[in-house]
Amino acid sequence: MVLLTPGPTPIHPRVQTALGKEMRGHLDPEVLATNRRIREHLGILFDPGPGALLAAMPGSGSLGMEAGLTNLADEGDAVLLLVSGTFGERMVEIAHAYQFDYKVLRSEPGHPIDPQAVAEELNHRPYKLVALVHGETSTGVLNPVEEIAELVQAHGALFMLDAVTTAGMMPLSMQKLGVDYAFTGSQKCLSAPPGLAPFALS
Ligand SMILES: *Cc1c(COP(=O)(O)O)cnc(C)c1O
Repeated sequence: MVLLTPGPTPIHPRVQTALGKEMRGHLDPEVLATNRRIREHLGILFDPGPGALLAAMPGSGSLGMEAGLTNLADEGDAVLLLVSGTFGERMVEIAHAYQFDYKVLRSEPGHPIDPQAVAEELNHRPYKLVALVHGETSTGVLNPVEEIAELVQAHGALFMLDAVTTAGMMPLSMQKLGVDYAFTGSQKCLSAPPGLAPFALS
């Protein structure tokens, strides 16, 4: 079978074989060692810096998005959402459902977010959290994360990055960029089965 979607993607035969292994207890030394190794590898994938929390939540990539937004902001908090397509719009739906005091900054369809517009909005009022989709799958746009991260850091807000179609696809260093929370989904660039949302929290 040839899969040509962003995800699910074909998986490596070694992974396919591992899926057929017998069940283990959750405290089995092999399970604990595997979990440790996964977290070490997530550290390489996200490079979040020392002391970060790394794990893979059981759910799709959208769980990583919802978990990030709802743990970094509370009802009534000022949140800036940078939207350049379908997955950015999903952040808006979540922010609406959780009743954040959110503002949406949209790019033209097919175009990346303009850092100048972000700078202007951040000068306008204080924000607790800024969220960006790095690679917007619906349009193929790659957003200028370096410039935006720098602005958010200077502003003093938390910065959340949807890295579902970038982590593992191109170099990404949360600590170099100044990203506080990033997540992905196992079935896209990682070419693993769907059902896990790996994340890093600085
Ligand atoms: C696929 C995707 C998601 C959502 O992941 P699901 O696993 O489908 O829930 C979020 N953001 C981007 C950029 C995506 O491509």
